[in-house]
Amino acid sequence: DNRTYCSIVIFGATGDLANRKLFPSIYSLYKKGKLNENFSVIGVARRELDNEAFRNNVRTSIQESKIELVDNVETFLSHFHYVSFDVTDKQHYQDLNMLLHDLEGQFNIPGNRMFYMAMAPEFFGTIASYLKSEGVTNDQGWNRLIIEKPFGHDLPSAQKLNNDIREAFQEDEIYRIDHYLGKAMVQNIEVIRFANAIFEPLWNNRYISNIQITSSESLGVEDRGGYYDQAGALRDMVQNHMLQMVSLLAMEPPISLTTEEIRSEKIKVLRAIKRMTVDEVDQYFVRGQYDEGNIYGKDVPAYRSENKVDPQSNTETFVAGKLSINNFRWAGVPIYIRTGKRMTEKSTKVVIQFKELPMNLYYKSEDNMHPNLLIIHIQPDEGISIVLNGKKLNIPGETTPVKLDYCNNCLDESNNPEAYEKLLYDAILGDSTNFTHWDEVALSWQFVDTIYKAWENNKVSDFPNYRSGTMGPKVADDLLAEDGFHWWPIL
Ligand code: NAD
Repeated sequence: DNRTYCSIVIFGATGDLANRKLFPSIYSLYKKGKLNENFSVIGVARRELDNEAFRNNVRTSIQESKIELVDNVETFLSHFHYVSFDVTDKQHYQDLNMLLHDLEGQFNIPGNRMFYMAMAPEFFGTIASYLKSEGVTNDQGWNRLIIEKPFGHDLPSAQKLNNDIREAFQEDEIYRIDHYLGKAMVQNIEVIRFANAIFEPLWNNRYISNIQITSSESLGVEDRGGYYDQAGALRDMVQNHMLQMVSLLAMEPPISLTTEEIRSEKIKVLRAIKRMTVDEVDQYFVRGQYDEGNIYGKDVPAYRSENKVDPQSNTETFVAGKLSINNFRWAGVPIYIRTGKRMTEKSTKVVIQFKELPMNLYYKSEDNMHPNLLIIHIQPDEGISIVLNGKKLNIPGETTPVKLDYCNNCLDESNNPEAYEKLLYDAILGDSTNFTHWDEVALSWQFVDTIYKAWENNKVSDFPNYRSGTMGPKVADDLLAEDGFHWWPIL
């Protein structure tokens, strides 16, 4: 497939992201024959390294990723080159350009260039403007930019970052990574909805009572305390991943499955999310911070005792919220989201709770009929469960919940590519469907900025307010209880 003939320049090639995700993904694509011999990878970072040392790093990172190395690994590694780089030095961009030209000749690559920003965002603007001014983007084939989160820390900073990179790249050349969009079951939301006659007719406020999206982590901040203490759960998770899942769940069926049509439906959802005033935020959003506790039998410290975290930090490590989408399909259906660190388990899932039947013929007591649920398991389990009511064996007139499970990653895990591998391949092919458009970024920041404004005015007094190893603070349960609902436990 000559659409994959390209050079990939990775800024930040000695970093964690490059080593843990990018090198293994590129190798996996190569091993599967999706990348043939017409590619090159240029690693760029501050450190002095020669090609051989860099290739050794790449080999090690693949080994650590548990992808099995096969005989062709040395040939694969010969496509990798390293440039030690100061991002503010013009000369280095010219050297990079020369090397790109050489490798394009050597590997017969038609000038297609992918620039992957795997380093701190404060340099993105500088890099983009030099790439352009020094002619690195000025070539025969395509130029594309892949850029990581965080995309700004609020709307104004995101706007500035966007203006900076737009100096060198057009919107359709920019691939903003939200790695949730690379996950198999997130991509599957669209299929479940639009390929099944039994769901789409029910997918509205007549039949759905509420939707719950949970993304819980059992880990704390680990060694990212410095970044996280400035960011918090709302910026780190809600602005991007959680709101992306909301828009996929709530969007109207697109006219077709093209990037433009899907994006435009997702953007409409983000526009329809009911805006809050700063004064209303406390009715809809609550926050938490973890205390010490016990997870999987191990004692863990409180957030405020973590490395590089301010001992008086008011940063939220947990957020729960209630969203309303003001359109014909969703008016009146609350969408609850929650995400946090140091929760009971690592799990991302969506629970769609259907409304009760108009009349319950099996009524015995409050709890003898279970609402129908559709559960989409996103990680680490991937699959779908449906909760129905069946007959209780040998007891006339009584029902019992029955759960039907479909497990996606139980079938063949080895065949299931990692999110980064899928997204990188999409970007190489020029498919930006599973990347976030600027309009989505801007609308999400606008929504999230209001919450931060309210929280800044209204400092917390009860942090830490949930123990590590629990599903978050009590206020998150109250949020649903007010509406007569509760979070569905692990089913
Ligand atoms: P890291 O600190 O491990 O690596 C940073 C890299 O940038 C290193 O290779 C370093 O040499 C290089 N670098 C830094 N300053 C430089 C300079 N002035 N000139 C040249 N090179 C320079 O960071 P990371 O964890 O790999 O993250 C990179 C980016 O990806 C960040 O924006 C981060 O927020 C984002 N991200 C990372 C992950 C992850 O899993 N690590 C996940 C999502 C997003």
